[in-house]
Amino acid sequence: MQPRTAYKKQIMSCARGHVNDGPLSSMLATWMDGDDKMPNWLGLDRLTFRRLVRFQFPQLQMRKFRPARTAVSNERAVEWRDLKKYLLKNRARNCASEIWIAEIVSSACMGQNHLWQDLGLQNRTELTALMENNFPKMAKRNVHNMKWKKFIYRELCQTEGIYVCRSPSCDVCVDYDECFGPEE
Ligand code: SF4
Repeated sequence: MQPRTAYKKQIMSCARGHVNDGPLSSMLATWMDGDDKMPNWLGLDRLTFRRLVRFQFPQLQMRKFRPARTAVSNERAVEWRDLKKYLLKNRARNCASEIWIAEIVSSACMGQNHLWQDLGLQNRTELTALMENNFPKMAKRNVHNMKWKKFIYRELCQTEGIYVCRSPSCDVCVDYDECFGPEE
């Protein structure tokens, strides 16, 4: 069994039985496996991270987690806050963990890879489920299955009245492959 799979199994054995158990256990297992694309404590402050772990995986030992190498960047703090605000506006309002997920996703948006990879999820399907469960109104608007990071930024820009697309229609846009298509 791959270490990441074993970590996930171990984390899931402590899960509270909530829709965010699966994606959060994937993120934590990726981190425990030494992949630190995400900043320290998944971009949360340490206390909030502890709260999240206690809430989601009550029996899990915090000492299993070591700080990642990457610190949260202050240079993009305004962008991070705007992303968080936008995601919170679209949250399902079913569970407190949506607030933490909004912060974690905002931090992952600062990464250089596809969003599911920056989050440390298993695949894009897991990310789509996370979006649908935590931000259903927003997820419903992604009718053409746009890449999630692109979609979130485009929505955010449109909310602010900024139109960054180079074409009036996706169908005739030279950047089509950047926004759609597989995220492998
Ligand atoms: S394909 Fe072009 S027009 Fe469509 S969202 Fe992407 S950049 Fe904008």
